[in-house]
Amino acid sequence: MFDVIAFDADDTLWHNETLYTIAQDSFTQLLSRYRAADEIEEELFKTEMRNLRYYGYGIKSFTLSMIETAIEISEGRIQGHEIRQIIGFARDMLNAPLQLLEGVEEVIRTLSEAHRLMIITKGDLFDQGSKLARSGLADYFTHVEVVSDKAEETYRALLARHDIHPGRFLMVGNSVKSDILPVVALGGQAVYIPYHTTWVHEVVANPHPEPQGYFELEHIGLLPALVERLNDQSVSHTSRIPR
Ligand SMILES: [Mg+2]
Repeated sequence: MFDVIAFDADDTLWHNETLYTIAQDSFTQLLSRYRAADEIEEELFKTEMRNLRYYGYGIKSFTLSMIETAIEISEGRIQGHEIRQIIGFARDMLNAPLQLLEGVEEVIRTLSEAHRLMIITKGDLFDQGSKLARSGLADYFTHVEVVSDKAEETYRALLARHDIHPGRFLMVGNSVKSDILPVVALGGQAVYIPYHTTWVHEVVANPHPEPQGYFELEHIGLLPALVERLNDQSVSHTSRIPR
């Protein structure tokens, strides 16, 4: 039934948002003499949103936004050694060991036996490439796409470029906004697997529109059974066609 099953990477295949949470906690701690933690977080988020159009997603842009926010919040009083600490928070993120989510390796191996698999991820090209290499999963994927945004238009162009019919495309991810809704809008199928933390930017007001139009699973271990069920449905559907 599916020509291609595509996966988001961060917080779908491996842990990611937790690294940002840890860095952000260190950052608010560093600036605690200037402002309360929630105010610092709010300022940082505003800076990140303002900077998205210039720097895109990923740790490098997050670092620039932390530095900019520190300068703003301290009204220019932030010291060189403190900026060095901020760069250290980012370095820790980049050097953090890659941790796959539970069950990912087995699921990817199983699905790769009968399907073409793809990764579609936002973020920094260099960092995402490095994480994929360290994940040990690279050989299971026929294509890896690091995109600057995951809008409907991005998916449309991507599917056209790879000659994939939307009806035969399944996307799996942890962000309703980026991985699910744009794919459903194009006529593709999507599986939402929530991660325990979601970046505010990825939160949508109503993640469960009626009818949903997509599947939701508690964890990735349940994915092969769902794919099998969908494949069977497609077979029984075909068999009902009168001869
Ligand atoms: Mg994600």
